[in-house]
Amino acid sequence: MSNLLLLEEQIRKCTACRLFKGTNKAVPGEGNSEADIMFIGEAPGKAEDLSGIPFVGAAGKFLAQLLEVINLNREDVYITNIVKHRPPDNRDPQNDEIEACKFYLDSQIKIINPKLIVTLGRHAMNRFMPGLKISEVHGKARPVRLFESGVTDKVFFPLYHPASALYNPGLRGTLIDDMKKIPLLLKNIDNFNNFDDSQ
Ligand code: URA
Repeated sequence: MSNLLLLEEQIRKCTACRLFKGTNKAVPGEGNSEADIMFIGEAPGKAEDLSGIPFVGAAGKFLAQLLEVINLNREDVYITNIVKHRPPDNRDPQNDEIEACKFYLDSQIKIINPKLIVTLGRHAMNRFMPGLKISEVHGKARPVRLFESGVTDKVFFPLYHPASALYNPGLRGTLIDDMKKIPLLLKNIDNFNNFDDSQ
């Protein structure tokens, strides 16, 4: 069994924080283990909790449409969340829950080693880029230094959460426009090496 599948099995059995209580299924992540792009959302919702698969509800349908805009489908990328169990009543994940899941998400990033990490929504963004405002930084790639030991630099691309466009249709076009920037960004990703910690 691959390291990624082993990790996903470990996540399915996780009881590291309170979130597993009352859930149906953990939602480890899904997609291509060699993906160039990894999408990171907030937390599983109802449909994801029932299926064990990330982004299969209404927000997921829009994410699939966004992928189509750049001629990709779910199998081309890897999709996961910052927490792997559904928070009760879809409340925001709490800091200690995000911290309890940190090992899993960090391990997924290390194993998949994507060229580009797309965060969906402010919670996923702030997990890696604390203090930024999504209204100011969406659709702009930025380097982030991850894992202080064994330094790894990654290019991050924050997007609004696809669910936000369901509540606020004005964001639909913004998400589509931001998404359209990804192919060129990916093409030139090796030149995106200005890893300045002050950024
Ligand atoms: N919203 C998320 O952030 N993640 C999912 O998996 C589904 C909806």
